[in-house]
Amino acid sequence: MFELPKLQFEYNALEPFIDQQTMKIHHDLHHGGYVTKLNTALEGNPEFQNKSVEELLQEIESLPESIRMAVRNNGGGHFNHSLFWNILSSEKSEPSSQLTSAIGTSFGSFALFQEQFTNTAATRFGSGWAWLVKKEDGTLEVLSTPNQDNPLMHKAGIPILALDVWEHAYYLKYQNRRPEYINAFWSIVNWKKVSELFGS
Ligand code: MN
Repeated sequence: MFELPKLQFEYNALEPFIDQQTMKIHHDLHHGGYVTKLNTALEGNPEFQNKSVEELLQEIESLPESIRMAVRNNGGGHFNHSLFWNILSSEKSEPSSQLTSAIGTSFGSFALFQEQFTNTAATRFGSGWAWLVKKEDGTLEVLSTPNQDNPLMHKAGIPILALDVWEHAYYLKYQNRRPEYINAFWSIVNWKKVSELFGS
């Protein structure tokens, strides 16, 4: 059985950038719903119940058709949100020197990386996610995915930074102003955690 992980901070910890009500609904009901539906999808398929969510997503194309879409949407939702909560923090932090250096190599500068990520998140049509991924050769790439897809399913690398741009992530506070939400996101990135995920 998959379980909804506890938030490592209070629902109001990210105010004013992400409001308490959004955090509570987003974590308890949206993320909680993905976990419940993932467990339901695997109920009749015990051979998949002991796998990690990462394993299930990496082999998504070879799962039985009867559960593939449910695992894609709800396993994706579970993994994506678990990562998202982990890379948010109210405490200011900086990328490690190794991550800073990799960002410089891959994008030219931190500002250019930020601009590309911001544009990618802003232009994702409909619901989806923006990602910073570490590729096999150690370089970094910004990309976006629709719905609850993620880079693991697309074999596009290891996600180390994630931004949820579904309307449920920001609508109560920002309504249709996704760019303001994206701008606020930069104030609450847990760079210590992102650096750890990068491997430094
Ligand atoms: Mn979400």
